Amino acid sequence: MVYKPNEQRYESMIYNRCGKSGLKLPALSLGLWHNFGGEDVFENGRSLIRRAFDLGITHFDLANNYGPPPGSAEENFGKILRQDFAGFRDEMIISTKAGYGMWQGPYGEWGSRKYLVSSLDQSLNRMGLDYVDIFYHHRPDPDTPLEETMMALDHVVKQGKALYVGISNYGVEETKQAIDILRKLGTPLLIHQPAYSMFNRWIEEGLTSLLQEEGTGCIAFVPLAQGLLTNRYLNGVPTDSRASKASVFLNREDITEEVIQKVQKLNVLAQQRDQSLAQMAIAWVLREQKVTSCLIGASKVSQLEENVTALNNLDFSSEELNIIDQILIG
Ligand code: NDP
Repeated sequence: MVYKPNEQRYESMIYNRCGKSGLKLPALSLGLWHNFGGEDVFENGRSLIRRAFDLGITHFDLANNYGPPPGSAEENFGKILRQDFAGFRDEMIISTKAGYGMWQGPYGEWGSRKYLVSSLDQSLNRMGLDYVDIFYHHRPDPDTPLEETMMALDHVVKQGKALYVGISNYGVEETKQAIDILRKLGTPLLIHQPAYSMFNRWIEEGLTSLLQEEGTGCIAFVPLAQGLLTNRYLNGVPTDSRASKASVFLNREDITEEVIQKVQKLNVLAQQRDQSLAQMAIAWVLREQKVTSCLIGASKVSQLEENVTALNNLDFSSEELNIIDQILIG
């Protein structure tokens, strides 16, 4: 069936300015790390992208290695773009990244100019795009001079292959250095993509304040702790969940008694707020407006629909925040 986007798609989504840039990002963005690879059901991924766009989610986050197999999420996304979004490229913010192992030999990972420039060319080919909106260096490289990596980011912007650049998984000190180098080159750092959730609060120790001072945006990945901060695992491990599949990133051993006890207590608080746990976890990430966008994953359209409704209640009383802190401390 021909896809016609929802006419009301911009009416309920919140769009936040990304740092001090001209770009606004939706408060919720959709990541294609899981559920869009060659081993997943293509039509499910397609319906997720369609529904996300209908709900006002304009930002789709990829990386060279998303799959499995690596590269297949970009290929599938390119197919979806061609099938359903031919007239809508200018309404979408598409990002990709390079940094992790993508091909054999010394030029297939990390942060050299050689790797970054060729990886972006490969990503553009797979997606059938002339440019991406945001190109990220996916992880810091301890061996390549930061100047070289940042010059490669600046280069792809000047080539017109990326409109903006970002970094991901960089610590506070290396982020400051990256910001300074890029500013001198004339390509400001648009955004940082760190992990952030109730279970992983490292960015509160210096990163968010640095980004605010520097006018750089922040997009938080894995806000639901891969599904742990939802009702998914309250009563065991469902057969269709990430933890029951072959994912090396979340498995049954991660779902300990201690984690489940915390999740159950958080779930009680969420219910008192008339939210699901997933909704509360998203609202918590977006509280205080230090995070520009919350970068979620989803395996089902119903999850997307539930998660978007989190935006109806982003406020927390100080008492609620204290209760959450106490639960997390254990
Ligand atoms: P989340 O923490 O949002 O976890 C998503 C998973 O949670 C879903 O696949 C689903 O699991 C479950 N879920 C989502 N909503 C609900 C709901 N309402 N009810 C019950 N379960 C729910 O994030 P991801 O781990 O998927 O990562 C999100 C994105 O972040 C990635 O796609 C990627 O773009 C980015 N990322 C970036 C990294 C980086 O290094 N820069 C690293 C990792 C991710 P299930 O499949 O079990 O249904």
